[in-house]
Amino acid sequence: MIERTLFNSDHQAFADAFQRFVDKEIAPFHEAWEEQGYVDREVWRRAGANGFLCPSMPEAYGGAGADRLYSVVQMEALARGGFSGIGFGLHSEIVAPYILHYGTEAQKQKYLPLLASGEMVGAIAMSEPAAGSDLQGIKTTALAQPDGSYRLNGSKTFITNGWHADLVIVVAKTDPSAGAKGTTLLLVERGMPGFETGKRLKKLGLKAQDTSELFFNDVSVPAGNVLGGPDFLGRGFICLMEQLPWERLQIAIGAVAAAQAAIDWTVQYVKDRKAFGSTVAAFQNTRYTLAELQTEVQVARVFVDKCCELVNENRLDSATASMAKYWCSDLQCKVMDECVQLHGGYGYMWEYPIARAYADARVQRIYGGTNEIMKELISRHDGARRPLRAGRTGPVTCSGGVRCRLSPGAVVAGAGGHEERRHEAVGADVRAHRDAKPQ
Ligand SMILES: Cc1cc2nc3c(=O)[nH]c(=O)nc-3n(C[C@H](O)[C@H](O)[C@H](O)COP(=O)(O)OP(=O)(O)OC[C@H]3O[C@@H](n4cnc5c(N)ncnc54)[C@H](O)[C@@H]3O)c2cc1C
Repeated sequence: MIERTLFNSDHQAFADAFQRFVDKEIAPFHEAWEEQGYVDREVWRRAGANGFLCPSMPEAYGGAGADRLYSVVQMEALARGGFSGIGFGLHSEIVAPYILHYGTEAQKQKYLPLLASGEMVGAIAMSEPAAGSDLQGIKTTALAQPDGSYRLNGSKTFITNGWHADLVIVVAKTDPSAGAKGTTLLLVERGMPGFETGKRLKKLGLKAQDTSELFFNDVSVPAGNVLGGPDFLGRGFICLMEQLPWERLQIAIGAVAAAQAAIDWTVQYVKDRKAFGSTVAAFQNTRYTLAELQTEVQVARVFVDKCCELVNENRLDSATASMAKYWCSDLQCKVMDECVQLHGGYGYMWEYPIARAYADARVQRIYGGTNEIMKELISRHDGARRPLRAGRTGPVTCSGGVRCRLSPGAVVAGAGGHEERRHEAVGADVRAHRDAKPQ
C-alpha cells in the first residue's frame, strides 16, 4: 500500500482527539438521530467547545488558524464511521469560508465566532424546487427597498443543516434582468420575520441529516447582510464558482474514506461467513472483487491526497476538483454495491453498516453539482476552449457565464491552458479558472 504523506504529526494528534470525540459524542447516539431525522443540537455546541468547528478560520474570529487538512481528518473520520447526519463539513468548510473570504469586517466579527462555537449552525441555500443544476434559473429575488434594505422572496429546497440553521447564505437575484450578474449572496438569520423553515425531507439515506426546505416571504434583509457589502452586489455567482472546487473535493474526500471503510467491513465479514464448507473469503470471486476495489480506492486516495495538497496551497482548479468529485463518488457507489453483494442478504439489512453506507452513498453523485455537470465542466477544459494567452487582460467569460474583467497587471500563465489571474471584480486571487474564455 502506498504510504500517505498528507498529514503530519499535529494532524494525526488532532485526528486522534477528534476520533475520541466521535466515539463519545456521536457514535452512541447516531442511530437514535437517524430515527428522529436530525442530530441533537447539543452535539454542535460540544463540537464547538472542543475546537472541532471552523478549525481553519483565523484565531481572531474564533477558529484555530489551522490549515484545511485539519478539516480533512474530520471529514474522513465521519465518513469512515458512517456518521452522515453530522453537517460539520458544510458548516466549517463551506459556509464559514464564504464569510471569511467575502464578508465585511463587521460580518466576520459577528458571525464567525458564533459558527466556531456552535452557537450558530450554518447552511447555504442555492437549490430551488425548479432550479438545481441550472443555478442561473433561480427565482428567489431580493429587491432593493427605498430604506436600503432588500425584500427577499422565494423558496429553497434540499438544504443541508437547513432545519437547525441559524444563519443561511441565500443565493438570490438582486437584479433579475441581469442574469448571473444580478445574483447576490445574503446572510439571512433565523428569526428574521418571514423566514420559515419547512419540513425535514425524508430521504433514501443520510437519515440523521436535517435536510430541509426554506421559505422566504417578504423577509426584510438589512443592507448590512449583503455578503461582502455593496461592492458584492451582483457578484454572487463569481463567489460560488470560486468556492465550489473545495466543496466538490470535500465530497471526494468523504467518498474515498467511506469506500475504504466498506471494504474493511466486508473483508472482516467474508472471513467469518461460511458457505459450501469454506469461508466466503476463500472464493476466487470474493478475492478478485476485493482486490479490484482495493486497487481503485488506492488510486482514488492518491489522487484525492494530491488534490488536498493543491487546495491547501490554493491551487486546486475547477476541472480537477470536478474530476475528483465525479470519479470518487461513482467509485464509492460501485464499492458499496459490490460490498452489499458480498454480504448477501445481511448486506440489505439496515442494522448492518454496509446497508446504511449503500443508501448514504447515492446522493454523492447528485449534490455539489451532479456528476453529469462535473463532466460538462471537465469537457470545457480539455482544449475544447481556447486558453487565455499569456499577458492578456480581459474581459473574459468565466464558468457560469459570468463576464469578468482582469485587473491591470494580472498574470495569465498560458501553460497547458492553465491560467492564473486576478479578478478586478472580486478583488481576490482567483487561481486556475481554466474554463475562462476570451471574448
Ligand atoms: C441530500 C441533499 C442535500 C443537498 N444539500 C444542498 C445544500 O445544502 N444546498 C443547496 O443549495 N443544494 C443542496 N442540494 C441540492 C443539490 O445540489 C441538487 O439536487 C443538485 O445540484 C441537482 O439539482 P436538481 O436536483 O435540481 O436536479 P436537476 O438539475 O433537475 O437534474 C436532473 C438530471 O438532469 C441532469 N442534467 C441537468 N442539467 C444537465 C446538463 N446541462 N447536461 C447533462 N445533464 C444535465 C442532471 O445531471 C440530473 O441527472 C442537496 C441535495 C440533496 C439530495
